[in-house]
Amino acid sequence: TVPFQSDIEIAQEASMKRIHEIASALDIQEEELEPYGHYKAKLSLSVLERLQSKPDGKIILVTAINPTPAGEGKSTVTVGLGQAFHKIGKKAVIALREPSLGPTMGMKGGAAGGGYSQVVPMEDINLHFTGDLHAITTANNALAALIDNHIQQGNELGIDVRKIVWKRCVDLNDRALRKVVIGLGGPMQGVPREDGFDITVASEIMAVFCLATDMADLKQRLSRIVVAYDMQNKPVTVEALGAAGALTLLLKDALKPNLVQTLEHTPAIIHGGPFANIAHGCNSVIATKMAAKLGDYVVTEAGFGADLGAEKFLNIKARTAGIKPEAVVIVATIRALKMHGGVAKDQLKEENVEALENGMENLQKHVETLQAFGVPFVVAINRFVTDTEAEVAFLENWCAERGYTVSLTEVWEKGGQGGVDLAEKLLQVIEQGTNTYAPLYDIEASLEEKIRTIAQKVYGAKDVEFAPQARKQLLQFAGEGWDKLPVCMAKTQYSLSDDPSKLGRPSDFVITVRELKPSIGAGFIVALTGTMLTMPGLPKKPAALNMDVAADGKAVGLF
Ligand code: ADP
Repeated sequence: TVPFQSDIEIAQEASMKRIHEIASALDIQEEELEPYGHYKAKLSLSVLERLQSKPDGKIILVTAINPTPAGEGKSTVTVGLGQAFHKIGKKAVIALREPSLGPTMGMKGGAAGGGYSQVVPMEDINLHFTGDLHAITTANNALAALIDNHIQQGNELGIDVRKIVWKRCVDLNDRALRKVVIGLGGPMQGVPREDGFDITVASEIMAVFCLATDMADLKQRLSRIVVAYDMQNKPVTVEALGAAGALTLLLKDALKPNLVQTLEHTPAIIHGGPFANIAHGCNSVIATKMAAKLGDYVVTEAGFGADLGAEKFLNIKARTAGIKPEAVVIVATIRALKMHGGVAKDQLKEENVEALENGMENLQKHVETLQAFGVPFVVAINRFVTDTEAEVAFLENWCAERGYTVSLTEVWEKGGQGGVDLAEKLLQVIEQGTNTYAPLYDIEASLEEKIRTIAQKVYGAKDVEFAPQARKQLLQFAGEGWDKLPVCMAKTQYSLSDDPSKLGRPSDFVITVRELKPSIGAGFIVALTGTMLTMPGLPKKPAALNMDVAADGKAVGLF
């Protein structure tokens, strides 16, 4: 049966199990479960302690080719794969990011999978869920208020008001807030200065939250955050402001991961949600670790293509958290590959094997990237009903000729059943024991070398150019001893290059690093390339304009 219903209609008709049933199937104890209503719950961090000596489940990372407006369905495949493992009798737990209201109200309308592979309750997950993003936003803005108050009350730390790097944040796309002036109105209204807003999912608090391993580590990371520079140009930290305790307090409940279920009652932990283009793109370390303690297999997703989310999962998250992925799924769609091969969005329904052939170079680059990391992979073709037999046959042959394992998945249409072949192939590649995963760069290398390694080995760039400001910062950061941290690239998701219009596999291009940002609490340096912004804007026709709520309280238009 081909679903003729929208994602939200399917989700609203789902018969969910009560959350304690999902939890007890995972042997979660009653006192470890904190229900938020009937179908959502937070899990106590004590689960990790209780299961400390239990061996970890195997982690499977889902990534994709570069996204196009045609859609790839990475979350759909992630959810479908988790369901497929259950179909074949394996205990799997899905680990996902929490959606941000920025893209939900802007372009996407929802981010909980699709068709018969969704996490539910979809409305809650896409709206305010258990309030984690509000807690993160509040912690971020509490810090901003404490900085401005510190200056107002005499500025004991000698903060240079022109060099405050901490911004305010809001979990919406709001371009008008990118640059603001605050403190206007006279002595009682604070000290006037330039400020700006980032979207919450790009804030350092979100990154800290996602990389922390427990409450103590969260507090330490928060303490290390650099908020400004003083008159001697020395960094001023949260610790110096004395704010780490309050920020940790604001985040203490949010730090517990959220348990929900899929349409087929497969457990899913959804926790933390940094974007992959302007942040590190992976759900929280605590969620991944807990999923690995509770399941024999963890299916987790990193944002956008393998050049962004997977690169950061493999170079930053896995290294920081000491976790090792056993295999990677590279999701591709025939539609998106045809767009990489030059077809316009309104022509995608027509069969076009030639364009598909041209677009394969994008997939090929991501395959090479994962080979460079040494992780075994399976290519998953997320099937659309418009894909023709000739196109599917071409793609399968193309993979076979190169010795790449490929699986045709129909999880959108058929739920877990449509991903059984993918799950079985993953078990095979894991069993082959060819995993030689290692991060791509040595952590001791200079920031410049690390950035060059990513640009050349992951993006296929000829070279990297550092703008004057970035050059200056390379020296300054080395002077502070920050050059031994990993790098979090901020780059467009649409292209392997820093120019979103270059689809396919661009060659002979240079990556321009405009500016660097220290995220010392998170433990990485952000490198801003091209024209990347940390506060998105809304599109011409925001998804929000199709949204409504029925008299009975049901959401309309969340896709
Ligand atoms: P991503 O994670 O890559 O952003 P999602 O999994 O969120 O993509 O899917 C985006 C949209 O595409 C969803 O509305 C989903 O229902 C739809 N979609 C995904 N796979 C398919 C498919 N095979 N056929 C039709 N629609 C699909």
